[in-house]
Amino acid sequence: MSKIKFGFLLAGGCAGCEMALVDLSEKLVDALEHLEVVFWAPTVADVKYKDLEAMEDNFIDVAFVDGMVRLSEHEHMIKVLRQKSKILVAFGICAALGGIPGMANLHTRDELFKQAYKDTFSTENPDDVYPQPEYLLDDKYDLTLPEFLDKVRCVSDIVDVDYFVGGCPPHHDFVAGAVEAIVSGNLPPKGSWLTNGKSVCDVCKRNPARKGEARALITEVKRTVDGRPDPDICLLQQGYLCLGAMTQGDCGASCLNVNMPCRGCGGPIPGVKDFGAKCIGAIGSVMGDADAAKKLMDKYPNLAKLFYRYSLPGSYVGRMKDELKG
Ligand code: SF4
Ligand code: SF4
Ligand code: SF4
Repeated sequence: MSKIKFGFLLAGGCAGCEMALVDLSEKLVDALEHLEVVFWAPTVADVKYKDLEAMEDNFIDVAFVDGMVRLSEHEHMIKVLRQKSKILVAFGICAALGGIPGMANLHTRDELFKQAYKDTFSTENPDDVYPQPEYLLDDKYDLTLPEFLDKVRCVSDIVDVDYFVGGCPPHHDFVAGAVEAIVSGNLPPKGSWLTNGKSVCDVCKRNPARKGEARALITEVKRTVDGRPDPDICLLQQGYLCLGAMTQGDCGASCLNVNMPCRGCGGPIPGVKDFGAKCIGAIGSVMGDADAAKKLMDKYPNLAKLFYRYSLPGSYVGRMKDELKG
């Protein structure tokens, strides 16, 4: 059997998702018996645009993209990769829904530039010099930079995506399963998330249902810096806002195992279209009284940064915001 031609493109991400693939360690060696890596840029090989552009259409059998879309370069490369690939996977929550960098959509492009190049404590920029897409140096060198686009978008805003994988980064055990599914061709319908279908609560050892207990309403709201949570009791029941009920549990409840609440990096459980909206309903429904709701607002004055931490660009709310702006 011929090997599956595999490609990997880092768009606007931190390359942590690629580390998750490398974290497969000996399983990666097994996988490489079936995979021929024909493109992995820019992290592993110094491949140029033209190398990808020169490939025949559909030359790559399976391509992963990690990272969101912020630069004109990301947009261009994702379009080319789509053309060259039979199956395209948005790998990791940045690619799937925008991820943490997607929270930049709460600010304008000008605000971001001012903060990054002018207002930071360690920056001195008296002449207001900002990055320009084109610059003529010494009247003879025509330099270009990729354009910084107006907002963060996810990969499916640019091209058709065949499969989505959550996680920041995807948990390596789950990545092994996803790679095996791809190698064996045992894949769900196109457009699906590759997930075991369970929520973080389903796999969390603190879940009150495991002890036959019902969940109680909460009257306290805490941030993770407030006190030390009991390591055996559901964090939400202790007032720490854990989003495990709404989140795909392919990580095996990693954060809960180290006494931290789930923040939703796994992406929404099947059937949930807007992760943040689901969180608003679910967390609102466990507030014991109006006093608890007030404590929530006091502790989290910007709830969007909690509930849409990983998914703002791919959310209904994020998209409506753009439509309202016209
Ligand atoms: S999903 Fe997380 S690990 Fe992956 S590129 Fe984005 S920030 Fe990095
Ligand atoms: S809310 Fe959090 S701590 Fe509680 S059972 Fe779900 S994942 Fe575990
Ligand atoms: S527990 Fe939640 S935030 Fe932590 S790794 Fe799993 S899905 Fe991500």
